[in-house]
Amino acid sequence: MTRPDLREALRTHFGFASFRGPQEAICAHLLDGGSALVVMPTGDGKSLCYQLPALVQQGLTLVVSPLIALMDDQVAALRARDLPATCIHSMLDGAERERRLQAVLAGEIRLLYVTPERFRVPGFLERLEPCDIQLFAVDEAHCVSQWGHDFRPDYARLGEMRRLLGNPPCIALTATATPDVQTDIQQVLDLGDAPAWHTGLERPNLFLSVHEVDRGEAKLDRLLEILDRVGGPGIVYTALIKDLLALESALQVRGYRPLVYHGKLSANERRSQQARFVESPDALVLATNAFGMGVDKPDVRFVVHWQVPRNLEAYYQEIGRAGRDGEPSLCELLYFEEDVSIQREFTDWANPDRELFLRVADHLAGLGERVQALDVQSLRETFLLKNRRDGRIETILRLLRTMGCCSGELDDNTFEWHRAPTAEEIAEWLPDDKHRRDLEGLLAMVRYAREPGCRKNAIHDHFGFENAFEDGCGTCDGERNVASWLDERLDPTRIRPVPHRQPSERGSAKGGAAPPVERGEWIEVRGHGLCAVVRVHHHRGRTQVDVERARDLTPRTFDLGRVKWRRIENS
Ligand code: ADP
Ligand code: MG
Repeated sequence: MTRPDLREALRTHFGFASFRGPQEAICAHLLDGGSALVVMPTGDGKSLCYQLPALVQQGLTLVVSPLIALMDDQVAALRARDLPATCIHSMLDGAERERRLQAVLAGEIRLLYVTPERFRVPGFLERLEPCDIQLFAVDEAHCVSQWGHDFRPDYARLGEMRRLLGNPPCIALTATATPDVQTDIQQVLDLGDAPAWHTGLERPNLFLSVHEVDRGEAKLDRLLEILDRVGGPGIVYTALIKDLLALESALQVRGYRPLVYHGKLSANERRSQQARFVESPDALVLATNAFGMGVDKPDVRFVVHWQVPRNLEAYYQEIGRAGRDGEPSLCELLYFEEDVSIQREFTDWANPDRELFLRVADHLAGLGERVQALDVQSLRETFLLKNRRDGRIETILRLLRTMGCCSGELDDNTFEWHRAPTAEEIAEWLPDDKHRRDLEGLLAMVRYAREPGCRKNAIHDHFGFENAFEDGCGTCDGERNVASWLDERLDPTRIRPVPHRQPSERGSAKGGAAPPVERGEWIEVRGHGLCAVVRVHHHRGRTQVDVERARDLTPRTFDLGRVKWRRIENS
């Protein structure tokens, strides 16, 4: 079969005039029936590498994508161009899923997007049997690797899924993969000696800097300066939810209205915070590392790390969300040596020793029906883990679930114990050297923070490109100071203040019941300091407020007629 004219197809299907980088070579290679590993920076157009072949050849391309929101967006973008794509996932009702599957089976669809978890649904693979699967595309392929930063057990099973689908050609795509992670991807997906396209990491519009402080409070000063100089939209990553909330309060008192995104919010709240961020021209979001994958916002002007992240892969992935539109953007790490201990603890918790793992597994196996009455906290207490934040029990439960030894969650009574782990499973999922490798990862992050020379060189070295910039990259604070870069590169007309200042219209209230305060406002209560108002009750002419104290985030209720208080004005 002669190969279709790819340029013509690029124009008709996507309306683009020319290919970017190696896109054309990759498409041609896939159309010849080859497999490939593609490592290309975010925003460079990886999706097109499998979308175009899918559209010009017969049969189906099955795309594995990590997040429902991400694939909804991609499918919507394709459908907006009238291209035959769909996705099947758990947020759809059964009838809709079936309707879409029928369209796939009828040959009306060229690109079917699913999450890796979909393959666990009994019968799903079998239903795909009649399809002529031409290509198996694995997006965000670094998730297959335990050494990567977004490891997903269901990704690790994708090699087996590929075999069950009859070994169609496979393309694995990611923006960040160290040599170790690349090897893992090749092995897990059984890519053999398929060629790799690795276009490097450089994002010339990103300026990398590290601001070292010797006391925690200095971080806020620096962040305020960045908000002022750079403007939004921007992301601030924190390692702990506790710090995120404290930072939220500190910013609120100063008149900012940041969005927040972390694992303790409900799925709905997370969706709405993310949507507000994506839509807003000047929003600031405070987030834990739960935020990001699937946030496709082109104009993020800065990514600030409030604490060191756990390794350079995570860092590079997170700052990769800045400047997708190619405009100058700042990526600054606020480095405070004490913060390293937070990640150090996380590393320990992510790597429980085998002895504890086996004791917990034995305990769960022996509980029988009584497991219904158990929750994570009491399990933690049984094993004398005193620190409430100690995450080892959660790690163990996650590993047991991955191995198929149990299912469900303890805390919502859906937990079921199935069987004891085998020795092979333990060797596979609790590898001897993982703790050491995680610690080395953290060390590389600290070394980056301390790097006296070119930061981009340091990152390139880490990802296997040695001496990428002989004369330095010119876009990091190893070579020039941030302020001068800002002066030169950031177009001041584009700088918008991030703060959503909401000047109070009512003027200052003295103590007493009226005028009542509102949810979201701040008051100062004598003896308790700053408090955020969470709820207001009016009862028989009195006003009571439920608040959270800024100092320790504890809830309190005050009768405003009985305490000395004043409203905090936004300035
Ligand atoms: P990645 O997955 O590598 O982060 P995407 O596949 O999401 O990047 O593509 C980023 C953007 O670039 C998309 O808006 C896409 O439509 C656009 N794009 C991709 N290839 C081309 C091209 N050859 N010409 C113009 N725009 C392109
Ligand atoms: Mg992508």
